[in-house]
Amino acid sequence: METMVERLIRYCKLNTRSDETSKTVPSTTAQVEFAKMLAIELEALGFSEVLHRLDNGFVTATIPSNMDQTVDTLGFIAHFDTAAFNSENIQPQVIESYDGEDIVLNKSLDVVMSVEKFPNLKNYIGHTLVTTDGTTLLGADDKAGIAEIIEAMLFFINHPEVKHGEIRVAFGPDEEIGRGANLFDAKDFRAKYAYTLDGSVLGELEYESFNAAAAKVSLYGVSVHPGTAKDKMVNTAKLAFEFDAMLPQDEVPEKTEGYQGFFLLHDMKTTIEEGHMNYIIRDHDKQKFLLRKQLMMDNAKAINDKYGVTRVVLDMSDSYYNMAEVITQDFKPVELAKQAMENLGIQPLIKPIRGGTDGSKISFMGIPTPNLFTGAENFHGKFEFASKEVMEKAVNVIIEIVKLNAK
Ligand SMILES: [Zn+2]
Repeated sequence: METMVERLIRYCKLNTRSDETSKTVPSTTAQVEFAKMLAIELEALGFSEVLHRLDNGFVTATIPSNMDQTVDTLGFIAHFDTAAFNSENIQPQVIESYDGEDIVLNKSLDVVMSVEKFPNLKNYIGHTLVTTDGTTLLGADDKAGIAEIIEAMLFFINHPEVKHGEIRVAFGPDEEIGRGANLFDAKDFRAKYAYTLDGSVLGELEYESFNAAAAKVSLYGVSVHPGTAKDKMVNTAKLAFEFDAMLPQDEVPEKTEGYQGFFLLHDMKTTIEEGHMNYIIRDHDKQKFLLRKQLMMDNAKAINDKYGVTRVVLDMSDSYYNMAEVITQDFKPVELAKQAMENLGIQPLIKPIRGGTDGSKISFMGIPTPNLFTGAENFHGKFEFASKEVMEKAVNVIIEIVKLNAK
């Protein structure tokens, strides 16, 4: 029988990086292959109702209730795509009983995960850690979540004497490019409440995310030979500076934390004649979020008014909303998770996510879906690692939530 860590490593080695530029669902064929494999494995492990849907890329399955009375159906969700970072030839390394010292990930390339840079490493002394070889990400985000959900479900499959309601699981694509959950079939999923296993350190329990929007700013200038440009040239690079200068300069990711929102100028490209800027806008507070979007519109208008022609065209779209709006209406999933952690002697670490999860969308589809820790850290880069011991605690939290729900 494969252990959870062996399963994690086997999954991590499969490159399932998503691709923002792709138009297909899922964005990469490697994810389709992974999902196909996962469905076959779930079937073999004894899951019921295993379904791999090609239209949305999700793999879903059920552990049927073994109780006479009906209790709420619970769902557990994780994503199998990995972030935009080198994912070729992932070679996880296992460090047993970690000694608390710097970890040499790659000797020949001199890649070291130092305790000075990552003081959190001190929390893992004595643990078995899974790391990268210093050249790729690991992909524990979110394959640790998948391995944990499977492990917890195997507990119920192998212990039919433990009473539980219906449990649904879903493994999905393209979370990292922010669109996997768009096609999630909440109705078919049936769960009253769900949890994403997509957090990080021990105890994390998150139910507040950002409200998020993307803004494309197109700039239109006038290109004239520089020698005869006086009073004629309009340079879109200068328009870009002008536009950005009208935004609050301290409300950027590098100067904000906690509940502070921001504007991020993510990328820009200009010629004299035409320019494009891409912003993302984030705020936990709905009202402030709306004001941020209004400010973008006001600034575009101010520039157009100043020049007397359309120099700026703004195209904004919402990406996801703060799931707290839904979850605070029915706090049961948060209470269950909190109680489960306390029963297991784990201090719940409740804090707002400075980002979004699949739960940010799924909650608004009618299934309140907070996020739980996975025991992995330093996502999206070569310093990503997972702790076997904390992963086991995540499994225990899932099991305890299911048990509490059956009471
Ligand atoms: Zn993730």
